[in-house]
Amino acid sequence: MVISVASGKGGTGKTTVAVNLTLSLGNVQFLDCDVEEPNAYIFLKPKITYIQPVGVLVPQVDEKKCTYCGKCAKFCSYNAIAVVKGKILFFPELCHNCGGCTLVCPEGAIKEVTQQRGVVKEGVAGSINFIQGELTVGEAVSPPLIREVKKIANNNQTTIIDVPPGTSCPVVESIKRSDFCILVTEPTPFGLNDLTLAVKVVRKLKIPFGVIINRANVGDKKVDEYCKSEKISVLMRIPMDEEIAIAYSKGIPVIEAKPEYKEEFIALYRKIEELKS
Ligand code: SF4
Ligand code: SF4
Repeated sequence: MVISVASGKGGTGKTTVAVNLTLSLGNVQFLDCDVEEPNAYIFLKPKITYIQPVGVLVPQVDEKKCTYCGKCAKFCSYNAIAVVKGKILFFPELCHNCGGCTLVCPEGAIKEVTQQRGVVKEGVAGSINFIQGELTVGEAVSPPLIREVKKIANNNQTTIIDVPPGTSCPVVESIKRSDFCILVTEPTPFGLNDLTLAVKVVRKLKIPFGVIINRANVGDKKVDEYCKSEKISVLMRIPMDEEIAIAYSKGIPVIEAKPEYKEEFIALYRKIEELKS
């Protein structure tokens, strides 16, 4: 089973849930797809055994051969390449690496070159297989790196995915083909707003899902009311707890600081299995 752990916004405790579910189950695979800011390694402390650079093919124009006919720019539906006043402009952050401009150039003036986007790190943390994507600083396009993390993963092992925060392309790339998605939120107006956006995404992707309310003893009841009205299962409630907060700040997993939580995370997994069947 592949379980992705997502949240409509950062700072809701998504990584805490992903890490502690992983540690409670043991013998699973953990994918850190939060490639812009991977931090699960702080808690899992894996021994990294392999680092692989990840690159994508981007067009490079030889202006000596280019006649500035504009066919490449006309072809590119992402506006990643443009011909302006006898100059070729390329916007790597818009490029989807389709290779189409290279194919349509009548002068053979475009070749594809590899541009490094980040690295994938593999390792082990006890019985856990660990894979993490790490985007190059300043790099804006993360889906190719997320795809690489998922490509390397073992499809036959129970997998927990730490998804980037938000509801945009990197989130979709991370959660697609999951068997279940946990949405972590907090009982505040911001938490509710971002949860409703995240729910739209998982519903669109037709992925079964449930909600975990973190810091459940503060804020208001609006998230509960929303889940009830939308018939969404609230899988777990984690209260605001000073001990948990202190452990987090020291890189100590919840189940180490408060071992009674291990049973709760195992019960969470069982609940997900039930909801799936
Ligand atoms: S299609 Fe080729 S020749 Fe035409 S503008 Fe683009 S790079 Fe230059
Ligand atoms: S590779 Fe594709 S997306 Fe990138 S500039 Fe060329 S046509 Fe546009």
